[in-house]
Parts: sequence; C-alpha cells; structure tokens
Amino acid sequence: MSLLVVGSVALDSLETPFGRREEVLGGSASYFSTCASFFGPTRVVAVVGEDFPEEHLAFLSSRGADLAGLVRQPGRTFRWKGRYDFDLNTAQTLDTQLNVLATFKPALPAAWRDTEFVFLGNIDPDLQQSVLDQVGKPRFVACDTMNFWIDSKRASLLETLKRVDLLFVNDAEARQLAGEHNVIKAAKTILGFGPRAVVVKRGEYGALFFSGSEVFAASAYPLLDVFDPTGAGDSFAGGFMGYVARCGRMEPDVLRRAIVVGSVVASFAVEQFSLDRLRTLTAAEIRARYAEARQLAHFDDLEPDLFAPGR
Ligand code: AMP
Repeated sequence: MSLLVVGSVALDSLETPFGRREEVLGGSASYFSTCASFFGPTRVVAVVGEDFPEEHLAFLSSRGADLAGLVRQPGRTFRWKGRYDFDLNTAQTLDTQLNVLATFKPALPAAWRDTEFVFLGNIDPDLQQSVLDQVGKPRFVACDTMNFWIDSKRASLLETLKRVDLLFVNDAEARQLAGEHNVIKAAKTILGFGPRAVVVKRGEYGALFFSGSEVFAASAYPLLDVFDPTGAGDSFAGGFMGYVARCGRMEPDVLRRAIVVGSVVASFAVEQFSLDRLRTLTAAEIRARYAEARQLAHFDDLEPDLFAPGR
C-alpha cells in the first residue's frame, strides 16, 4: 500500500477542563500518520522550524511515519493554541501562528509521485492542491479542513473539493461550509461541491457517512475519560485511511468498517493529552475495542409475529 499525508506538524498549547499543556506535539500530519501507520508505513509531507524538537521526529518515525517529505526550514514551527470548555466537542482557537507554514511549498520526493492513497490534512487549501498536482493518478483522495480555512480561503477550498473523493468535516464545519443548519442537508450540499462522499464527525455522538443516496451512521465508542479532544479528527482520518489503503479497495463494506476503525482509533487519541495515548497504543487494543463497538451496535431483526393482528 502507499499512503501519503500532507498536513501540519505543530507545537500545541492546550487548555481543557482537566488541565493544560504548553507546546506539546500536535498537528494534523502527526496525529494522522501515527494512527494510519498501524496499517502500514505513511508518507509525511510537512514542514517544521528550527525550534522543533528532534525527539518528536524520532517518535513519529518510530511509529512508522516516513519523514522523507518533511523539511526543516529557517524560522519557527507552526503553533496552535486551543481551549475546550465543558462541552468537549468544540475547540475554541485562541491563537494560530502559521510561522514556517506561511511560506511552505510542499515538494514531494520523486519516488512518492505514484502514491495511491492521499490524505490532504487540515492545511491551506492552496498547499493541498499543490500536493495533488504532484501525485500522478491517486486511487483515492480524502481531505480535511477547518473553520480557519473555510473563512479565509473559501474559493481555494472549493477548488480542492472538486478534486477529492471524500471530505471529512465536523458538524459545525459542515454547516459553515454549506451555509445550512441541518447536517443532512449540509452534507448533500457538500456532495454537490465535488466529493463522492462526506463523513460528518459529530464528536461524542459518532459519525455519519454520505455517498449518493447511501447513509451510514456509526456511534462513537462510549468513553468515560475524555481528556483532550485535540487530534480526534485527524486520528479518525488516520485510522480510516490506513485501513482503506491496507484493504486496497473502496467498496461500501470496507468504507463502513473504516468508519468504525476511525472512531475506535480516535477514541484512544482523546484519552490523554497530545499524542500521549497513541505512544503506547497497540494493534491488539484497537482490535478489542473494534469488537466492543461491533457488539454495541448489534441488534436483531424484529420478531415476525410482533404486531397486533390487522396492523
Ligand atoms: P483536530 O483533529 O481537528 O482536533 O486537529 C487538531 C490539530 O490541528 C492540532 O494539533 C493543531 O496543531 C492543528 N491545527 C489547528 N489549526 C490549524 C490550522 N489552521 N492549520 C493547520 N493545522 C491546524
């Protein structure tokens, strides 16, 4: 399999009702590659500054990220500061410093131009397109975004959407992008922008998948301990894309399981700050929680003689 991500590698400062952390490892490409590489090596296209700790790079490659497309440039690393109030579903951005991301021009190693599966992580949509320009004929392209880009780069984002197979968004982003309150209608509107499928992530309420007339709902794994929701979306996408790339096909049965795999992987990511829970996560734990999720969603058919006569 060949799977590539372009996204941010960041130093995050986070406040949740359970505590705070300063300048910890974050970024869409970090979460994505750590989760996707449970299923195979993941190519990372990203930029960091001179101040980015070497130990974070060592960690990412120890988990299976191929960092041949990650460059270190003069200047400071991208920084994001976010806060979650008691409703852990919505992040409040306190500060975004693009730093080296502002001038980043992604350049794919020549050997990566044949990549089959591509994930355009949450990053400037111009950069997302420049990566797509450099891959020959990908079999499947998925994309993520956030309110920051929907606000500031809407026209460019709509260009990206014409070129992707699947968009991952959370419900607030779906509403904002479509200009439509109802999430189902918003998803239909987004399908009209170009992607063949849309996954709407709804935090603790699970995820909805839309493609053509097909809808699939997966509930989130009911967690007792949500510590830091940062990276849930990228972890979801990492589990999803890693699994799809590993299967090597995009039929509905694979995509359905991929949504559950994504939810399960994301459920681990939020149990501790930053990528900390992912540092110790094992394939056996993912498999066990997938089995629990399956059990949770299972119900039998109704009895044939259930209803009163004549009804
Ligand atoms: P999520 O999976 O949506 O929670 O993504 C969280 C990650 O996105 C954090 O680790 C941030 O470093 C990163 N991030 C936040 N804002 C941006 C932005 N404008 N561009 C790129 N990455 C961002």
